[in-house]
Amino acid sequence: MSKTIKKIGVLTSGGDSPGMNAAIRSVVRTCAYHNIECIGIYRGYQGMIEGDFKEMGPRSVNNIINKGGTILKSARSKEFMTEEGRKKAHSNLSAAGVEALVVIGGDGSFTGGLVFNKEYDFPIIGIPGTIDNDIYGTTHTLGYDTALNTVVEVIDKIRDTASSHNRLFFVEVMGRDAGHIALNAGIGAGAEEILIPEEDLGLDRLLESLRKSKLSGKSSSIVVIAEGDKIGKNVFELKDYVEENMPEYDVRVSVLGHMQRGGAPSCFDRVLASRLGVKAVESILDGKSNYMVGLLNDKIELTPLEQAIKGHSQIDRELLRVSDIMTT
Ligand code: ATP
Repeated sequence: MSKTIKKIGVLTSGGDSPGMNAAIRSVVRTCAYHNIECIGIYRGYQGMIEGDFKEMGPRSVNNIINKGGTILKSARSKEFMTEEGRKKAHSNLSAAGVEALVVIGGDGSFTGGLVFNKEYDFPIIGIPGTIDNDIYGTTHTLGYDTALNTVVEVIDKIRDTASSHNRLFFVEVMGRDAGHIALNAGIGAGAEEILIPEEDLGLDRLLESLRKSKLSGKSSSIVVIAEGDKIGKNVFELKDYVEENMPEYDVRVSVLGHMQRGGAPSCFDRVLASRLGVKAVESILDGKSNYMVGLLNDKIELTPLEQAIKGHSQIDRELLRVSDIMTT
């Protein structure tokens, strides 16, 4: 392991996700383990531009492994999209002696990191932190497992009401471009139908499926809908459409929203964050740059950042079939 780098910066950027704190903790402690200094950069790239830095040691990350959100705060920075902004960021990093960056965030944050690397030849390693699980090169992004558990817990509660009143519930979950949360949480919560952006189920098939479910003796139903579903209607229009065509159903809508991004990270996310943080720092010390660390076949592997950004994490088709069979 070559140890030419003596100071690493860590930041969280884009939307927050449970497990980011555990990843910060891991990066800071891995630096300490290898006698490397670590600088925490507040508010993502915006903090880099403003020089909002703090030296971090193993004790500055006590008691955060169990906390949602990010102690370093996150931000979206328009200024970092400009050459001028990135120049300021680079001069702040140089003044502070920071020689490499660990960027915890989604594909936008990785794109910003790549642009910065191309301009300043600055070593960057990315840790995928987003609940959407929409990044290529890892089977799980940080926060995804926690979000699934949150969604399943809430749908279990909604089911109590649905079955007490013979109601049909449409539950909208996050996932503008990817249906991972809807598909997995839908199966986990026993949803009757799951609508995701990757599949155009169509309105007729939805009605047909609900009628079938009614005929089979089910008196209440849960339909899980990803916010980016391709059926062409938002969840409230969908409710109106189904009520017009199936007046026997009393349809209610529940939009879960930002609660899916919060809460204490699951054990899975804490362990994943710890593993990713170690690999990120040790990859930098091995002289690597422009890679994302991710979980593949239960091993922590490196994927070029460019591929992670451009590739698509595909939905598991087998799960679609399982979901169909489960609604029999
Ligand atoms: P989420 O998945 O939660 O949306 P994200 O990392 O994709 O997270 P973005 O808002 O897309 O979130 O990106 C975060 C930040 O990365 C932006 O606010 C901007 O500062 C920086 N960034 C994104 N794209 C670029 C780019 N092309 N050039 C420079 N910086 C960029």
